[in-house]
Amino acid sequence: MKNRILFLITVLSALVGLQAQKVEDTKVILITLDGFRWQELFAGADSLLIGNEDYVHDVGMLKENFWRETPEERRQVLLPFIWDQVEKMGQIHGNRRLGSKVDLTNSMWFSYPGYNEILTGTADDKNIRSNDKIPNPNLTILERFNKTPEGKGRVAAFGSWDVFPYIINEERSGVPVNAGFEAASGNLNEREQFLNQLQKQIPSPWGSVRLDAFTHHYALEYMKKEHPSLIYISYGETDDFAHDGDYQAYLKSAHNTDALIKELWEFTQQDDFYRDQTVFLITTDHGRGTEPLDTWRSHGSQVNGAGQVWFVVFGKEVTPLGEVAQEEQLYSNQIAPTILQHMGIPLPMGIKGAPMKL
Ligand SMILES: [Zn+2]
Repeated sequence: MKNRILFLITVLSALVGLQAQKVEDTKVILITLDGFRWQELFAGADSLLIGNEDYVHDVGMLKENFWRETPEERRQVLLPFIWDQVEKMGQIHGNRRLGSKVDLTNSMWFSYPGYNEILTGTADDKNIRSNDKIPNPNLTILERFNKTPEGKGRVAAFGSWDVFPYIINEERSGVPVNAGFEAASGNLNEREQFLNQLQKQIPSPWGSVRLDAFTHHYALEYMKKEHPSLIYISYGETDDFAHDGDYQAYLKSAHNTDALIKELWEFTQQDDFYRDQTVFLITTDHGRGTEPLDTWRSHGSQVNGAGQVWFVVFGKEVTPLGEVAQEEQLYSNQIAPTILQHMGIPLPMGIKGAPMKL
């Protein structure tokens, strides 16, 4: 009898320990690339666009950089971190040519509804119908995490687009959001001070979106100083260069973002707080068109295929499946519940997406 009780206590404390370890130790880095197509993720530069002078200033240079004979070579040269390293250690979902599908469940197929779906786990076509700067009535996982005792003050968001303070409802949620052309504030290190200076001196091509290097380095410096357990980083260039019809800049930006993500991964692997404890989840807020050709520039419910997205995951406790080559159907609303589950936070009532097994 005594033995049995002892055994039970051992099992119970092991279970409690396991749970406690998950909650305290798992860190999550959620990343989005605005409007980056699955077509380029899985096949690299598009043969119909890379030689098209309507969309490319310097065809020779662009082809030298990103054109290769096979889709496998093209994607590797476009996104070397994803296809050299992430493919070996993580999962890459959404290659529809192989049967792996990832779709939005919102029917808008533009940014605010996409980010709301990714960050809350539930599409809200009734309330989120524009990109206007309206405080989000829905709770993001960032806000939910900030409400837990272990998450309080351990969460942050960085975005290139100036609507993120509203999508994350910075005011209500208390989640610090640095987005648009906002400078870093607080107790700044030398690099942050320099970034603040450069941000004023390097004009962005756009009115509401800054260049991603600023978003990236503000986030990285913040991680070094504050060590948030949950951080969201939203890169924006890909969407805006596509709207501009600049395929050359769209590809270069995707290539650059791949290197920025590699830098984040390498930072986490040499930092005691993050090393071996961190999961990276990367996705996009919407797809773009392919047919007619010019619809590659745009998205929205009128654009065929703009609801098709993709999803990449790697890091702590992620099974290395590589490029998923079997029939599956995933949805963007599964990302938020998957993160909550991975961090040991109970799923809220009414959340639409089902958590994925990673
Ligand atoms: Zn857009």
